[in-house]
Amino acid sequence: MAKVDMANFLATRVKLFKNFPAGRLHQLVERADVRTFEPNEAILEFGEENRIFGALVEGQAIVAVTDDSGLQHRLAELNPGDFFGEMALMTGDKTCADVIAVTRCTAIIIGEEAFCSLVTTHPPVVRTLSKLISDRVRQQATQGGEGAFRQGDDPYGFKLHSDSPVRLLVLNCGSSSMKYNFYDTAHEIRSVHGVIENIGDDKTRLRQVSTLGEKVESLPRGDHADAFDAMITALTGRDGPLTSPDEVVAVGHRVTHGGERFHHALPIDEAVEAEIERLSLLAPLHNPVNLAGIRAARRLFPHARHVAVFDTSFHQTLPPYAYLYGLPYEYAEKGIRRYGFHGMSHAYVALKAAETLQRPYNELEIVSCHLGNGASVCAIDHGRSMDTSMGFTPAEGLIMGTRSGTLDPAILIYLMRTEGLGADDLDRLINRSSGLKGLSGFTNDMRSIEKAADEGHHRALLAFKTFCYQVRKHVGAAMAAMGGMDALIFTGGIGQGSAGVRSLACQGLARMGVVLDEEKNQAARGFDEVCLISTPESAVTVLVVPTDEERMIARETLRTLDRSFISSLIKKPDQPLVPIEVSAHHVHLSHEHVVALFGPGHVLAPRSELSQPGQYACRETVTLIGSKGRVDNVRVLGPPRKETQVEIAMTEQFKLGIHPPVRESGDLRNTPGVTLEGPAGRVTITHGVICAQRHIHMSPADALRFGLRDRYVVQVKVDGDRELIFGDVLVRVHPDYRLSLHLDTDEANAAGIVSGTRGTIAEIQNRA
Ligand code: ADP
Repeated sequence: MAKVDMANFLATRVKLFKNFPAGRLHQLVERADVRTFEPNEAILEFGEENRIFGALVEGQAIVAVTDDSGLQHRLAELNPGDFFGEMALMTGDKTCADVIAVTRCTAIIIGEEAFCSLVTTHPPVVRTLSKLISDRVRQQATQGGEGAFRQGDDPYGFKLHSDSPVRLLVLNCGSSSMKYNFYDTAHEIRSVHGVIENIGDDKTRLRQVSTLGEKVESLPRGDHADAFDAMITALTGRDGPLTSPDEVVAVGHRVTHGGERFHHALPIDEAVEAEIERLSLLAPLHNPVNLAGIRAARRLFPHARHVAVFDTSFHQTLPPYAYLYGLPYEYAEKGIRRYGFHGMSHAYVALKAAETLQRPYNELEIVSCHLGNGASVCAIDHGRSMDTSMGFTPAEGLIMGTRSGTLDPAILIYLMRTEGLGADDLDRLINRSSGLKGLSGFTNDMRSIEKAADEGHHRALLAFKTFCYQVRKHVGAAMAAMGGMDALIFTGGIGQGSAGVRSLACQGLARMGVVLDEEKNQAARGFDEVCLISTPESAVTVLVVPTDEERMIARETLRTLDRSFISSLIKKPDQPLVPIEVSAHHVHLSHEHVVALFGPGHVLAPRSELSQPGQYACRETVTLIGSKGRVDNVRVLGPPRKETQVEIAMTEQFKLGIHPPVRESGDLRNTPGVTLEGPAGRVTITHGVICAQRHIHMSPADALRFGLRDRYVVQVKVDGDRELIFGDVLVRVHPDYRLSLHLDTDEANAAGIVSGTRGTIAEIQNRA
C-alpha cells in the first residue's frame, strides 16, 4: 500500500483519525508498517507485552480468549477500519485477548513511539480514543462474547452456544435411577436423552431417545457402577453419538443441596466434593447419591471438566425474613432455614416466560408453579427468587405425590407420643406414604386421581381438590410476597399435563388479575410448547411452559466453565482494588417535586461532588414521613431525575414503617410510597422507595480489566480484621462511571466498614 493511500485510508475509514491534522497523519504513516496475516494467524497474542496500534485494512479478524481446556471464547469481530491494540497501549497492561485473522488480513501497524508522540499528544484523539474504548467494551457487554449467551432470537442462551464445539453430558443420579443427557453444541440435533431405572433390582432397564429413535433395553441386576457402564455402552454404541468417552469435554452434575455456601454452579474439585459430602447431613436421601455419581463420572471421564449445579442456588437470593423459621436464632446459625429446591426448573421456565413475553426478565414479577411428583411454588421478583414453598428439605409446602407438604410440626410429636413412631417411621410417613397417595389411598399419579375422581371416587376427588386448593393458596402467597404478578407459570408433569388442575388452581383468582381462557387451557399441549392460557384482558399472563432442567444444567455448566476462566483473569494479583462507598439514605427528585417541596423556580444547589461524574449532593434536605414515623435531614442528590426515588436503610425502614424491596436504582414498579416534606410543602408519592441492591459502578475500561460485563453479579471480598464476602453485587458499566462499590449504611455498619475501605472482586456469581 502506498504511503498516500495509507494516509487516505486512516483519514477516511478509521474513526479515530477523523479530523486528524493532515501533516501529523503523514508523519505517522511515514513511521508505520503494512503487514499481511494468513487465516488463523495471530495478529496479537494474549498475555504479550504488545505495544502497537493496528488498523485492519482488508480481511476479517476476531478478538478472542482461549481457556485452559482449549475452548475459544469470541469477544468481537474486526472488519476493515476497525483497530486493535489501543487498550494495552493506553493502559500499559499486557494484551488481554488474542486478535486472530479469520481471512487473509492486511493491517497498518503503528509502533508505540510513533503512537505516543503523534497520536496521544493530540487531545481530541485521546478523548475519542477513551470513548471508543468504552463503546467497544460496552458493545461487548451487551452483545455477548460470553460463549453461552447471545442476544437476538435466543436472548437467554437456551441454544447452548459455544464458540468451539463442546460435547457435554448432564448427569442426574438418584437412589434407584440415573438420568443422562448428551449435548453437542455444534449439532443440537445429536442430543440424546437417557434414563436407567430400577437400579439395584431385577427390573433395571435403560431407555435412550435420540433423533435415531427410542431404544429400550433390560439390564441385569446391578449397582450404579453397572449403570454407568450401560450408559457408556449406549452412548458409544451403534446408535450413540460418541465413539469414545474421551470425546466428552464437560460433565454437568445435578446436586440437590448446596447449602448456604454454593450461590452458583462450580467446577468440581476435592474441596467442592468435600462440601457436598458435608451437606449430606441436610439431604441424606440425595447428596450421597449425587456425590457417588460425581466420583464415578470423574473416574470414567478423567479428561472432562466436571461442574456441580445445585437445586438450591437459585434461591440464595431469599431475604432473611423469607428464609428464617420461627425457631430460636441459634438454629438458623446451625443451618436450619429455608433453602428451596427445583431451582433449575423455576429459573428455566421464568426465563422462558420472559422470552415469550418479550420483556426483560429483570423487570418481571413471576409466580412459577412446578407441579410434578415433587411440587413447589416460587416467587421470582425482578429476576431474583424471593420466596419459595419448599424449605429446609423438599418435604415442605404443597402436598405432593407421596410427600405431605407443610404440617403442623406438633403433629409429628403427637405421633411419636401416641403411636410410638420413630425418626425412620416419620421420615417414611411424610416422604413416602402421604400426599396424593396418602389422601386417595391408592395412587400418587395425578392422571389416575383425575380419572378416579371423574368416576366419582370420593377420596380421589378430595385429593384432587386439596392439591388444587393448595396451589391456589400458594400462588396468592407468592403474589403477596412480591406485591404483584405479571406472569403465572405452570410446569412439571401435572402443571404441563393437567388442564383440570390449572383450571381449579386459578379459580377465584380473578380479583388478583388471573383470568383463564378455558378453551385455550383445555387445548394446551404443555409438553410440546409454551402455551398462553389467559384471556387478553387478564392482567396476569398465564403460561404453561415445558420445563427442561437438563438443558438448564447444560447451560449452567457451559457458563460456569466460561466464568471460571474469566474468574481466573480477575484473580490476577495485580487486579485493581475497588473503593467502597457507604451510601447513606438519600432522595433523587423529579423537577416537579423540586418545585413542590422547595417552591416555584427553585434550582437545586450543589454542595459537593459525588464520585460518579455529574452527580452531586445538594444543600437541600427533606423529611420523610411514613405511617409509623419520620426521618429528618435526608439529603437530596442532583441532578433531578425523571421520577422521584427514595433510598433508605433497613433501620430507617423500620422507623418509617415502610418495607421496600431490594431493587436496582430506577426500577420502581410495585415499590411502596412515602410522604416527603420540604420548606415549601409536602408531596406524597405512591411508589419510589427502594432498598438499593449492592452494586459496583465501573467504566468499560475497568470492566475489561476485570473481565466483567454490564449486569454480571459478583462477589466482593473485603480484607480486614475478619475477611468478609459480599455476594449478589450487581455490576453496572457506563463510560461515565468511576470504580466504586456502593453498600447500604446498615450493612456497612454491621460489617464495620467505612467509606474508603477497599475490596477485590472474588468471584463472578451470575451472568444473567
Ligand atoms: P417428577 O417430579 O418426578 O419429575 P413429573 O414432573 O414427571 O415428576 O410429574 C409426574 C406427575 O405428573 C405425576 O403425578 C403424573 O401423573 C403427572 N402427569 C403427567 N402427565 C399428566 C397429564 N397429562 N395429566 C395429569 N397429570 C399428569
